[in-house]
Amino acid sequence: MTTPFGYKLNTKHREAILQRMTVGKLDILVIGGGITGAGIAMDAASRGLNTGLVEKQDFGAGTSSRSTKLIHGGLRYLKQGEFNLVREVGRERAILYRNAPHIVHPERMLLPLVKGGTYGKLATSIGLWVYDRLAGVAKDERRRMLTREETIGLEPLLRQDILSGGGLYIEYRTDDARLTIETMKTAASCGAKCVNYAEAVQFIYEKEKVTGVRVIDRITGKEYTIYASKIVNAAGPWVDRLRIEDKSLYGKRLHLTKGVHLVVPHKRLPLKQSVYFDVPDGRMIFAIPRDGRTYIGTTDTNYEGPLERPQVTMEDATYLITSVNYMFPSAKLNIEDVESSWSGLRPLIHEDGKTPSELSRRDEIFQSPSGLITIAGGKLSGFRKMAQRVVDAVTERLAAERHYRFTGCMTDALKLGGGNFSSPGELELFRMELRLKYREVTEGKEQIVNSLVDKYGMDAVAILEDASRLKQDGMAVEISLLLAELRYGLEEEMVVHPGDFLIRRTGLLYFNRPEVGRLHPIVKKYMKDALNWTEEQALQYHRELQSEYEAAVHFGD
Ligand SMILES: Cc1cc2nc3c(=O)[nH]c(=O)nc-3n(C[C@H](O)[C@H](O)[C@H](O)COP(=O)(O)OP(=O)(O)OC[C@H]3O[C@@H](n4cnc5c(N)ncnc54)[C@H](O)[C@@H]3O)c2cc1C
Repeated sequence: MTTPFGYKLNTKHREAILQRMTVGKLDILVIGGGITGAGIAMDAASRGLNTGLVEKQDFGAGTSSRSTKLIHGGLRYLKQGEFNLVREVGRERAILYRNAPHIVHPERMLLPLVKGGTYGKLATSIGLWVYDRLAGVAKDERRRMLTREETIGLEPLLRQDILSGGGLYIEYRTDDARLTIETMKTAASCGAKCVNYAEAVQFIYEKEKVTGVRVIDRITGKEYTIYASKIVNAAGPWVDRLRIEDKSLYGKRLHLTKGVHLVVPHKRLPLKQSVYFDVPDGRMIFAIPRDGRTYIGTTDTNYEGPLERPQVTMEDATYLITSVNYMFPSAKLNIEDVESSWSGLRPLIHEDGKTPSELSRRDEIFQSPSGLITIAGGKLSGFRKMAQRVVDAVTERLAAERHYRFTGCMTDALKLGGGNFSSPGELELFRMELRLKYREVTEGKEQIVNSLVDKYGMDAVAILEDASRLKQDGMAVEISLLLAELRYGLEEEMVVHPGDFLIRRTGLLYFNRPEVGRLHPIVKKYMKDALNWTEEQALQYHRELQSEYEAAVHFGD
């Protein structure tokens, strides 16, 4: 179960890891396996704390697989005067690019300037200049102001009658679910005991202080009691549910807003690069080409429905399509063009009188009288720093109780998952080597190597080696690659349901939905044998994936 350095997220080790959490008392138990919880577990374990983490769904299945998938420098926060936030996320972005260059990619973003738009020419120029400096943007990535003609040259699909020019700046594109799993893997390799499909259902108190949690394994139905010196509520949109359970929901509370994205084939919105554009209601929207598709988002509306799987409504979809057609009129997109979609909830902190878009994206830590530590708000982009603040608070309290000094945060120098590259140049060299070495099993297709490296970094080697072996045993190339990736997911990334693999580990449901229909039966059959599912389990998992597959293109009221 353990590696010389810690744990592996092997699906078959789930129960043993849960069992291990019940032995003695953890230093810290984290509830929630999104990016916030994963970051906290990584930070705590790397400082040597005895760390556990439970996630009631799959890792990243909450908001952390449903974002715009950008590591922002935080341009929009500049408009809200949140200079410190811009400075912090800019610095964090550079650290993340250094530690995980395989899942964080610089992306040129075009900001068209339009009559009556959010940013005027001078304001944009000054804004982007300030942004570059605050966010510590490298010299060769600093903003460039463009004339109207240059802007049209870069993106001919743009509406031209209201266009006056443009700004070009760098954002960083990521895969949020993969960032979460790579962070979780790093936490586990540092010794954190992390398990998905394990729900914290009840707190345990001694003398009114929270000392433990009852956890139910949603796969086996077994119950576990886990004790910890400090318990951290990192449950994203669910944090207030746990605060209610702890009887500490007073003062500040969450304000959930829903954000929706649509995916269309790139040929239906053939942008040459990413664009961040104005829409008539005063908001701004991203359109980002990726993997042969273009995705568009996001909306930002108050939300009060069920927290699991928020739906995309026809109103959401129509809003985004109308917005695209406003700025790219020749696209003439319609609802039938939508190939996939997703919807997520922002766990923001409520501020009286503010609209969803005006609410601060800052994070805050609350400590309840029982000792429960809650982290709320924040962004994917700032997860490392958020984790540092939480673990600093935890070690401060533990140090006072135990008269012991803990080491400080070290995650700024910790490579994530397969990200052990000394520079982006070394990453490119690595891609080239793999293309040559595995020409046979990839049939010389560059895209196959690129996609594996973008997802798994250095660990792409393990997958390609396994695929080569399967191919040598007579398996068709496509199936050997698919099964090798799935086997890696089962051994290293705690894939439990087919959807964990087809939605979050590979991103296929969002960026290649037709493939999900074709590959699902193969994935299901392999997993049924490998994990000894009952017929009932197989049917239940089949239905769950089918429902997500359909929801991606069926919009409710
Ligand atoms: C539409 C949209 C676009 C966004 N775009 C960006 C972007 O481009 N860049 C950026 O930096 N940020 C972005 N964000 C913000 C970012 O996605 C979130 O801040 C971040 O993902 C929140 O992570 P989290 O771990 O706090 O919450 P979550 O990812 O929701 O994780 C919380 C987890 O807790 C689990 N949980 C809840 N209750 C329990 C329990 N009782 N027991 C065990 N587990 C439990 C849940 O299942 C869930 O997985 C966006 C957000 C949205 C909604």
